[in-house]
Amino acid sequence: MRQQFASDNNAGMCPQALERFLEANKAGHALGYGGDPWTAEAKARIAELFETDCEVFFVFNGTAANALSLAQLCRPYNAVIAHALSHIDTDEAGAPEFFMGGGKIMTADTPLAKLTPKAVEELATRYSGTHHVKPAVLSLTQATELGTVYATSELRPLTEVARRHGLKVHMDGARFANAIARLGCSPADLTWRSGVDVLCFGGVKNGLAVGDAIVFFDRALAHEFGWRVKQGGQLNSKMRLVSAAWLGLLENDVWLSNARHANTMADRLAAGLVGIPGVKLIAPVEANGVFADIPQEIQSALRAKGWQFYTFFGETGCRLMCAWDTAPETVDQFLADIRAAASA
Ligand SMILES: *Cc1c(COP(=O)(O)O)cnc(C)c1O
Repeated sequence: MRQQFASDNNAGMCPQALERFLEANKAGHALGYGGDPWTAEAKARIAELFETDCEVFFVFNGTAANALSLAQLCRPYNAVIAHALSHIDTDEAGAPEFFMGGGKIMTADTPLAKLTPKAVEELATRYSGTHHVKPAVLSLTQATELGTVYATSELRPLTEVARRHGLKVHMDGARFANAIARLGCSPADLTWRSGVDVLCFGGVKNGLAVGDAIVFFDRALAHEFGWRVKQGGQLNSKMRLVSAAWLGLLENDVWLSNARHANTMADRLAAGLVGIPGVKLIAPVEANGVFADIPQEIQSALRAKGWQFYTFFGETGCRLMCAWDTAPETVDQFLADIRAAASA
């Protein structure tokens, strides 16, 4: 099948992850539920990558990672402060609220899908007293749902507001790798050194079949988290097949090259869209997604040619996602087709 821009999850597994998966499978029997050497090694490598002693858990997907980690940080009367476009609020069918057992998500609709210290301050202080939910967590998405990123200089003022109001900081890092690839800073600088307490570190969109990691930088926050994972149906009994594939991403910084490639393809796509009549970028391209206004007639012409992508905002705001394996030829073909449609 041809490559598409509907989502970065349209791509399959990257070869390095697949190879490690097959090796682990061939190795024969091993203890289940994470009691195997691959899982121990993958956790150690993640700790090394983040330059700190942290607690790591592997769950099936990003929704589970977000929902369980937020539930861990909240009581049922608590609230999570997040952006109005956040995946936790708009794309998880209420899973965070379900696992929080009553918790609520409070949102602000600030520009470019990025929260601001002022908006967080406003939400953190909106309520007081027992009639209202009590904010307990600030959740930031990195890279954001609009393909933008928070630099460390933007993160720090946000996490400072959180600290001041006693909020823990959660990061939805489904595309954390893409943010690192763009910013060129260290994973430690973009997380715990900037005040992040828990990171949901995405592996699936980066080249795995299954398995996102939850990284607790403050080990105390992970207290009894294993029970939550098990109760949530997220403890994989053949964990080694997930953690071995993770090793394929972690070794030789494959996770970073995969993300760099996807970002480069997004840049190529965006550069080609500039100047096409009627087409306009609606956000800066800082990760692996391109968000552009594309007139409906042009969208229809592209879909008629077999292209798949989502219209996210109104009738013209389209999302085009690049993946670890998006070929330059795919981008160029799409651009040729959109140019043809625009001049028809
Ligand atoms: C894809 C994604 C997730 C995880 O979604 P799953 O489909 O559950 O793996 C979480 N957050 C963001 C921002 C995402 O794009």
